[in-house]
Order: sequence, then structure tokens, then C-alpha cells
Amino acid sequence: MSCQPTETPEDVDIAALRAKYLHERDKRLRREGQKQYVPTDEALADGYDHDPYMPIVPRAPIRDDINVAVLGGGWSGIQAAYHLKREGVPDVRVIDQAGDFGGVWYWNRYPGIQCDNDAYCYIPLLEETGFMPSKQFEDGWAIQEHFQRIARQFGLYEGALFHTLVTSLRWDESIHRWRIGTDRGDELRARFVVMASGPLNRPKLPAIPGMERFKGRIFHTARWDYDYTGGDRKNPVLDKLADKRVAILGTGATAIQVVPHLGRWAKQTYVIQRTPTSVDERRNEPTDPEWAKSLQPGWQKARQANFHRGAIDGLLPGEPDLICDFWTEISRNLQARFEREGWPQSVAEIFAAREAEDYRVMERIRKRIETVVEDKATAEALKPWYRTVCKRPCSSNDYLQTFNRPNVKLLDVSASRGLERMTETGVVANGVEYEIDCMVFASGYEVTSELKRRWGIETIEGRGGRSLYAHWDDGYRTLHGMTTHGFPNQFFVGFYQGGFNATTTVTFGLQGEHIAHVIKAAMDRGATVVEPSEAAQDEWVRTIRASAIDLTAIQRECTPSYLNNEGEEKIRWYLGETYGPGFDAFARLLQDWRDAGDLKGLVLGARETEPV
Ligand code: NDP
Repeated sequence: MSCQPTETPEDVDIAALRAKYLHERDKRLRREGQKQYVPTDEALADGYDHDPYMPIVPRAPIRDDINVAVLGGGWSGIQAAYHLKREGVPDVRVIDQAGDFGGVWYWNRYPGIQCDNDAYCYIPLLEETGFMPSKQFEDGWAIQEHFQRIARQFGLYEGALFHTLVTSLRWDESIHRWRIGTDRGDELRARFVVMASGPLNRPKLPAIPGMERFKGRIFHTARWDYDYTGGDRKNPVLDKLADKRVAILGTGATAIQVVPHLGRWAKQTYVIQRTPTSVDERRNEPTDPEWAKSLQPGWQKARQANFHRGAIDGLLPGEPDLICDFWTEISRNLQARFEREGWPQSVAEIFAAREAEDYRVMERIRKRIETVVEDKATAEALKPWYRTVCKRPCSSNDYLQTFNRPNVKLLDVSASRGLERMTETGVVANGVEYEIDCMVFASGYEVTSELKRRWGIETIEGRGGRSLYAHWDDGYRTLHGMTTHGFPNQFFVGFYQGGFNATTTVTFGLQGEHIAHVIKAAMDRGATVVEPSEAAQDEWVRTIRASAIDLTAIQRECTPSYLNNEGEEKIRWYLGETYGPGFDAFARLLQDWRDAGDLKGLVLGARETEPV
């Protein structure tokens, strides 16, 4: 497919726009930062522990010795388990609070759910399983079915424990194992533990005054109540809403997908918006079978690498943009500009060109809103005023159009920095009460709140009873972002201290592969304990910090959200601390480390024998 640059306005006044962006940010900054949110399980009667999709079947507690416990069955956990199996590591058990594999794709079944990233990149193990997505932005249910396919194909259901929440992890030096406690009363003793909770496991809920008084139905999008709305995720006919007034709070990536369905089915829909999202059109072509047939082995990795350049590093001279969507628009446009005007010679020039194109692209997005939304005031309120990196960009062919319906009203609550309050029967926005029957929170996830709150594991004690939370109190301390000193045989998949790929699942897959290699290597050497030396860990922390690209200034100028720690003074980037030279350099570094074969920086030991 040939992919053209978009037409963006040349005549943008960058200084004026920047001032406007800062003004809009200031309108939304709240001194409480993270504290504006309450734990979902405390605020909602059936908010978090509840599973609306599968019954939680009682079972007897399990007492068992296991080899590897993988905590989490989402993309991070399932890929770690897959790589462990592939390495031939026996007795790998996945434990998850959900009733099946899927992580966010298990919990999120809201109407309209699709992946927003190119599915040919985002969905892992396509070549290994022979699965091909049906379209570029695949449906949520098909993605969860792919989890099940992977789990079946590679034997990951064996010994898996679902509807099981890990509550404590204690390292027992006398047996060189982790003692795992769960909410099912299990007592497991695992040689190795892989922490794979993922970044979107804990729904986030704003503390709206009066929320507890509301007498209608209330739920989070990650626990969609189809009994109440009608329909199901494959057929979201929300016919039970025909006589209902529904409010949805939040206008992030989730709401962009849900709102058109509420608008279509509910008697009245109120969309409560604090910050608008940038919404481009969505070209979601079905997969061309001829194209699929033409693909050569290794195509998925090549496409992921192309997407990473298109979204982050910049397309190379003459490189085609295989993805050709809103994620790669800036790079695509810059490539065309550079081909015309000459390629910049310095990183600073590229940065400046990126920034300028960012303003132009956002202006294009804002102009587009005027052409779609009929009511002028609503169109104005829907315009996003920030740089693309500040909020996740989205695409939809129905979202903006939904505001042209007579039964849909936008409630802009930016002036009060969020929804004012709830009453027994409705919501109050800008001093006006709107009666509703149902409140849907599309309020996202706790991505940058305290780790303990996100993981929900009360106790994690390493050697000498030291708490992991205390160990990381002043920031992460890891070797390669995957192990930490004093916490033997414990591994981490996620955003800590490593390379970051534009396709999140690629980041996690690389970590899973590396962790599986280390566990296998330790077992092959007869080691029952493996952990980084303090010196190796500290050196990696120095490497990461010395290499880091300082984005603080951009983050501070962003409108608040989970991407910049909700605008708090202490910037905590949602990707953790990233390796400055980039993802490819990080992948090479790990590959070289593995090829050297000496497990440099790790200390191995064995029970009842001398250290090996
Ligand atoms: P977000 O965190 O992006 O959005 C939460 C929304 O709730 C924001 O609009 C936020 O406003 C609003 N909000 C929070 N507090 C208040 C308040 N007090 N009053 C009014 N509004 C409030 O959550 P999402 O679930 O939309 O998306 C989270 C992430 O999940 C995405 O960024 C993406 O990574 C992933 N995702 C991926 C999808 C995919 O690939 N298909 C689809 C959906 C999500 P404000 O912005 O002002 O804080």
C-alpha cells in the first residue's frame, strides 16, 4: 500500500500555540496530583474484586512446591511463560486474578473495544501460532482468543491458577524459595518468581464528592456490566439502555471507543470531559489475504522495527511507512519534508523539526473537528491543546460524529478541574445537575501511582525480610530492569529500567526472553539462587541515568495525566527510566550479554553446596 504524507498547515504560530498549551495545562493542574484518585476496591462495591464475566468457583487451598510462578496472565506474563516453555524450563505456573489469560483484554470487554495499534505489530507470536488478525485494529475479543490460542498451543494452561490474587511474597533463605500467599489460602513455594502485573492492571477512580450517595448503577469500563446494558462484547447491542440516561466520565482511549455505542443505544448520554483527546479518522481495512500470503518468515519483527522507527526513532531515508496511521504521521511527514529540503545533520535539528511538525499535526486534528462537529461550542470544547506526546492519540470514525446526535451532550468540566460532584440521582457539572440512571467510569488505570497500590501485594520481602517497596523507595535499582539485589530469583517484566519499544508487547517479549534465558542458565548450572551483585545493579542504575534523554521539560509542559504522574511536582514517567540509546541498542546489549555466556553481574548459589 502506498502511504502518503498528510497535509498539515504551514502557517502555525508556534509561540502562540505553546502559550495556549501552557494555559490549558494550568487550567487542569491539581495540587493533589495522584491523591485525587481513590482505590477502586474501596470506592466501588463491586469495583475490583468482582468478575462480571466468569463465576469464581470455590476450590481448596493448594500447598505445593513449584518451579516458576509467573504472576500475571496478560501480555507480559504469557510471553514470559511462553519463553520459559521454549527454553525447556519445567513446571511453569501462571497465576492471575482474572478467570483466564488476557490481562487487560480479559477485563476490558466494553462495547467497541479494539486495539489502537497496528495489530500485525501489537499481537505477539503471529508467525509462531499461524494466526493473522482480521484487520489492522483488531477487536478485543479476537485478541483475548489469541491469548487462549497461545496458552493452548504451548501448554500454558497446565497448572495455571486463575481467580487467584497473590497477597504476599516472602523469600525463604532456608529453602531458597519464595513463599507465596494468595487470597485463596494457597501456600506455594516457588523457586523463581516472575512479576508480570502489567501497567494497566489496576482501574483508577477519581474521588468525586458524593459518589457514595449515588443510587443508580455505577461501574468501571474494565468491568462492563452487560447484564445492565444488554448485548455482549461480540454483539454490543445495548438495548437495555433504551430508557436509560447514562453519563460516562473520561474521554481517553477507552471512552473514544465506548461513546459511539452509548450514543447509539442510550436514551440520553452525557460525556464528562476534563481534557479532550486528539481523534483522527480510523482507516481499519480488513486484512488482504493476498498480502498475508505474500509475507516472508520474519515479517512480524521487520514490521515492528518499521513501526518503532515510524513512531519514535524516525523513518530512514527512502524507508516506506508500512503502518501508515496516526502513530507514524509525524515521521512520515518529516521524511517527505527532509527528502525535499535536505536531511538535518544534528539531533537538535531533528528534535526541532519534530516539535514543529507536532504543532502542525495537532492543528490539522483541531481543524478536522470543526468539519465534523456541527455545534460550534461543542466543536471548540473538543479541541485538544497539547503536544501529541502528552496524551495517547486516538482514531475513530464515530466518536466526534456522536456529538451531532440530539441525545448526546458534552459536559466540559475543565473549569472545575474534574466533575464537581454526584448526588443520589445524578451528576453536577458547572453548577447544573443532570439526572442519570447509570454512571460509567472510563477513568483509566493507576499507571504511575505507588507500586504497592498498583500490584495489590501487601508484602514482598526479600533476603533478611527487606521490603521491595522500601528497597525501591528512592527509585528503581535493577540490573537491566529485570532483577534487583537482595531479592533472589525474582524477575520483573514491565517499565523499570530498560529499552522501550513503540509496541509495548515487544518490550515485554524481549524481557520474557531474557528472563527465561537467565532462569534456564541458572538451572543448567545447578544453581538454586540467582541475583545481581550490588555492584552490577548500581552500575546499571548509573548507566541508565547517564544515558537518559531528559524529557522533564516536555513532561512538565504536558497537560496532566498518567503519562506525567498526573502533573505532580515529582515527575515519574510512565515508562520508568528508559535506556537512552534506544530499544535496538538495548536489545543488542542483552544479546551480547547472553552470547558472552558468563552471566556477568549475576551471582549464583546453590543450597547445601558451595556457590557455583
Ligand atoms: P485514560 O487515563 O487515558 O483516561 C481517563 C479519563 O478520565 C481522562 O479523560 C481523564 O481526564 C478522565 N478523568 C479522570 N478524573 C476525572 C475527573 N475527576 N473528572 C473528569 N474526568 C476525569 O484512561 P483510558 O482507559 O481511556 O486509557 C488508558 C490507557 O489504556 C490508554 O492510554 C492506552 O494505553 C490503553 N488503552 C488502549 C486501547 C487500545 O489499544 N485499544 C483502548 C483503550 C485504552 P484527564 O485527561 O483530564 O485526566
